[in-house]
Amino acid sequence: VSAAPPELTALHERAAILSDLGHIHSLLFWDQNTVMPPDGARARGDHAATLEVVAHERLTDPELGRLLDALEPWAAGQDPDADDVRLLRELRRDFEKAVRVPTSLAAELSRAAALGQADWQEARAASDFSRFRDALERQLELRHRYVECFTGFEHPYDVLLDDFEPGMTTAMLRPLLGELCDGLVPLLAELAEDGPKPVGGAFGGPHEVEHQRRAVMDILEGVGFDPDGWRLDIAPHPFAQRIAPGDVRITTRYDMHDFTGAYFGTLHEFGHGLYEAGIPDRLARSPLGTPVSLGVHESQSRLWENVVGRSRPFCAWALPRLQQHLPAWPAATTVDDLYRGVNTVHRTLIRVESDETTYNLHIVLRFELELALIEGQLAVDELPHAWNEAIHRLLGLDVPDDAVGVLQDVHWGAGLIGYFPTYSLGNLMAAQLWEAIRTDLPEIDAQLERGEFAPLRGWLRERVHSHGRKLRAPELLHRVTGQELAVEPFLRYLREKLTDAGVLRAAPR
Ligand code: ZN
Repeated sequence: VSAAPPELTALHERAAILSDLGHIHSLLFWDQNTVMPPDGARARGDHAATLEVVAHERLTDPELGRLLDALEPWAAGQDPDADDVRLLRELRRDFEKAVRVPTSLAAELSRAAALGQADWQEARAASDFSRFRDALERQLELRHRYVECFTGFEHPYDVLLDDFEPGMTTAMLRPLLGELCDGLVPLLAELAEDGPKPVGGAFGGPHEVEHQRRAVMDILEGVGFDPDGWRLDIAPHPFAQRIAPGDVRITTRYDMHDFTGAYFGTLHEFGHGLYEAGIPDRLARSPLGTPVSLGVHESQSRLWENVVGRSRPFCAWALPRLQQHLPAWPAATTVDDLYRGVNTVHRTLIRVESDETTYNLHIVLRFELELALIEGQLAVDELPHAWNEAIHRLLGLDVPDDAVGVLQDVHWGAGLIGYFPTYSLGNLMAAQLWEAIRTDLPEIDAQLERGEFAPLRGWLRERVHSHGRKLRAPELLHRVTGQELAVEPFLRYLREKLTDAGVLRAAPR
């Protein structure tokens, strides 16, 4: 056995520092979005920018490149699955992406993100796209300059996608989302008429915030929120982060008139938190100790929110808890009412308010439009019209104004182009994982109904979470399910559930 080369120790030290800087950044972000007084925002912007500069300098340090080069011959003789070999590959990816982007462009990108979000906020408040168009034009121009830093891609959008879903390409995504759309549009047409929104239906209300908090905590502790290692706080835009092993922070927001927001929102963030919590401690101070992609991350949140949280056995387990903590809960609600209520299909203009069935159509629309913008097929000034036309085509709805149309999401103002598809990828992966779970855990329904979540958590930890960033998303999915990313399992899952819940009439045979 040959001793590990000295360069490996040096690489570990650098990897640990990069990882620490990332976690310090997460902590600043958490603080800013939960407890920081608003007047602290300006100074916090400086702190975050300084940290970013330090991390960028560290990541682009030529000495890091030298260490990576020096270790290649050693890595070639090792097990390709070994932590250190994967670390080398992932650090090389980060290093090579970072050194290609000039510091001046990186600074412009982060400034444009801050300004773009401010312009977007104003434009949305006034419901006036013309106040946002210059910021969007600027974002597109900067994205093109960013793309030009790279070589060897087929489509410029591939470069943008790769930042969120490593290895994903336009050529792979276009047929997937096309097939998804082709499956969902006729399904939606089959739903004879849209059901009522679950708000005010099965959930009753209004519910006092303190009652909601108690209900949510009871549910969370039931599924696996460990009070010694997790926190739940309030944030305007909920998120989840692991700062360190034993320190997972999830957030939610409460609306007296809509308990579903906090209920499904916390299950969603729990799924994200559980993923990060399940990454082994030995990878915690390493770039390998992070989620592999946004799509995989989202598969974990959607699995708990939708696949588990909106299942009949989970409804049966949760109902008595909700009744216990929410005095305004309608006494007559049955498990079937709850199950049907949380699976109701209701077309809405707003992505974040949409149900599981129509959600992906909102993503298809954004993907089509941002692709057309990047390809230069669509001019920025034509975007609101194109948006409204697509909403009508996909959902049959008319958009009354820009605030509930093209201006509803923060992403484009913040420069996050190529991000939206990861939401749908998460939905598809969750359905594929669920099929594997049902095979491996044949008692899963009975376990969920009894509140036995440990087998499911254990399966997810072993099969998905424990790899951290060691396996890329397609490799991970293939190892766990034996499949490539596919649309059919999601459509099958959705159709079965909607039929079972009585939302969709059983197809005559
Ligand atoms: Zn999420």
